[in-house]
Amino acid sequence: MLFGRKNKNPIRIADKGVVEWKYTTCGYCSTGCSIEVGLDRKGMAVSSRGVGGADVNRGKLCLKGIFEHELFDAAGRGDTPLLRDRRFEPFGAASWNTALDAVAEAIKRIQAAHGRDAFAIVSTGQIMTEEFYTLGKLARGVIGTNNYDGNTTLCMASAVSGYKRSFGSDGPPGCYDDFEHTDCLLAIGSNLPEQHPIIFWRMREARERRGFPLIVVDPRVTMLAQMADVHLPVNPGTDVVLLNALAQVILDEGLEDRAYIEAHTAEFDAFAQLVAQYDPRSASRICGIDEDTIRNVARTYARAGAAMTIWTMGINQSTHGSDGVVGINNLNLITANIGKPGGTSLSITGQSNAMGTREWSSCSGLPGYRTLEKPADREEIANFWGIDPDFFPKRRGLFQTDIFPAIETGQIRGLWIIATNPMTSMPNTPRIRKTLEKLDFLVVQDAYRDVETNEYSHVYLPAAVWAEKQGTFTNTERRVNLVRNVVEPRGDAKPDLWIFNEVAKRFEQGRAITFPETAEGVFEELRDLSRGRMLDYSGMTYEKIEAQRGIQWPCAEDAETGARRLYTDGRFQYPDGKARLIPLPFVDNNERPDGDYPFWLNSGRVVEHFHTRTRTGKIGNLNKFSPTPYMEMNPDAAKSLSVEHGCYARLVSRRGDAVVLVQLTQRVPPDMVFIPFHFHECVNRLTLGLLDPHSRQPAYKQCAVRVEAVADEDEAAARNHAARTY
Ligand code: SF4
Repeated sequence: MLFGRKNKNPIRIADKGVVEWKYTTCGYCSTGCSIEVGLDRKGMAVSSRGVGGADVNRGKLCLKGIFEHELFDAAGRGDTPLLRDRRFEPFGAASWNTALDAVAEAIKRIQAAHGRDAFAIVSTGQIMTEEFYTLGKLARGVIGTNNYDGNTTLCMASAVSGYKRSFGSDGPPGCYDDFEHTDCLLAIGSNLPEQHPIIFWRMREARERRGFPLIVVDPRVTMLAQMADVHLPVNPGTDVVLLNALAQVILDEGLEDRAYIEAHTAEFDAFAQLVAQYDPRSASRICGIDEDTIRNVARTYARAGAAMTIWTMGINQSTHGSDGVVGINNLNLITANIGKPGGTSLSITGQSNAMGTREWSSCSGLPGYRTLEKPADREEIANFWGIDPDFFPKRRGLFQTDIFPAIETGQIRGLWIIATNPMTSMPNTPRIRKTLEKLDFLVVQDAYRDVETNEYSHVYLPAAVWAEKQGTFTNTERRVNLVRNVVEPRGDAKPDLWIFNEVAKRFEQGRAITFPETAEGVFEELRDLSRGRMLDYSGMTYEKIEAQRGIQWPCAEDAETGARRLYTDGRFQYPDGKARLIPLPFVDNNERPDGDYPFWLNSGRVVEHFHTRTRTGKIGNLNKFSPTPYMEMNPDAAKSLSVEHGCYARLVSRRGDAVVLVQLTQRVPPDMVFIPFHFHECVNRLTLGLLDPHSRQPAYKQCAVRVEAVADEDEAAARNHAARTY
């Protein structure tokens, strides 16, 4: 026997004493994996495993899911409400009644003095759909502020905006099953293996079976780019130019589907005129991809029987994010790749329930993809809730990224932050810090009392986390999944649904409206409000969702299950049923590298962490695998600055600075550095975050920095070590 294999020890799986496995859905990313949590004899969560019969993950979990049971008992959890008069004083423990009274009184006081919109609410993509809907009812129907938004503006707003502009409605038209049918996959700004490992596994299995070409567009040689047939290292922020050029080649060479364009799209002539200006030779000077490659990719895509595009933050987090999504939709419309197996525009969403907030939170309008701008929608929801339609504003208020500047100017005086952490996640955090310090009143509602933003609050409300409560999440492919309650909330923490209901009771209008006490009771309202609509939930019940391991919408009342794809009949959500082909002139409006700040700063994710590490930073194994922020830098660029591998370097932008460990690699070009975005006091001290004009989403991935060697390595190491302890 070679290498003595016979003598190797067998793998032993530790017996953790599981006596019961409980079904639920993973609470991190939008993939929507079905998961079972193992409980021991004392009812403690001691293990996690994937659910074999679930279509999404088929028994698998990524690293985060495998350790997810550890988060119930992690460090920094809040288990009692906290209160203080001034943010620099120590907190004192308070009863729920005292804390909730303080919140309601502050809202009333600020609104009475400065108007209804002077109190703002910023929520999340992490809580259950039933909780989003209830928060929307509270914000729009009781408190009546129009300055109410979610942190999804930081990740998915451009996808929402792009879908609305092209198809007349939000709603990803495709699904994971499209990987099984596609003949060509274009992935733009999406590093699937690290961001969405289980979707990556689905894609890779399908590709191994069928061998379709994979084309990756990304300025960095990501893990996905290393597996691509063609990698297009596009210049940062120029995706729209590349997409226009692909369309130009397709139209110029007659590779478009004329019959589909005529039957199902509008405004082709204006679109064709615009793309005619983006011939590959001219485009290559802007986007950095040579003209032959542009032509080859355009031909490959257009000639494939079915072709699909996926994207994530590389498209969305840009000053042209919404245009980038429209550009992808344009490409798929002219090649008839919408609504057919393997042909789609599929945005890979970020948070576990980013989709749920888009559908039901009322952040951008009213529940169920209704809008404030339509009188009929205002009337319908007002009647359903039992309030006066005139209580609603006639158009949506500020996006999250506009709420913080409105605090600076004094327009907003009070803020309620729910399960999000702007002190780490917003661009230009030195500015956000000053903004939070200016507030008359800040309430932070979060499962973790040590979330960085809580440093600035007057009231802290401890929320239950993930499967300490019950409800639904919608995943990337419109699949509604059930999160079953696995353990009880820790200490005196409460489900977000309970907190919203209790706040509602403290307002006269809140006592007049029905707020169901259970998540299942709220779900019945979603079924009623969605019946016959595009996002029809009426055929779903909790039992049916669990039995099928998730159901995609639309699922009509009499349907056995949901529909895999949207727009299969070529009818879109505009009144004439036609999708729009939208011309996309390119405007170069980014901060760019120059003599003082010669590097592009790019950011992204690592597989071990989720968002601002509020949860994963407390999970031992995840934190051990990825304990500290680092910077990828090209060795040639590093040499000229005397920066060495494994040392610390200081990055400086016009906003601030950050110290990181250096990792020299050819994954980034000589004029770019890359940093994972998860860490506090790091990448977002540097970012500028110019906003997309349509979606108001920040351009996290494009700003200019310089790199300096750190003089005192020991001090840098000591600071780094201190930042890692928790
Ligand atoms: S891929 Fe996403 S949903 Fe699945 S286990 Fe990992 S974090 Fe959870």
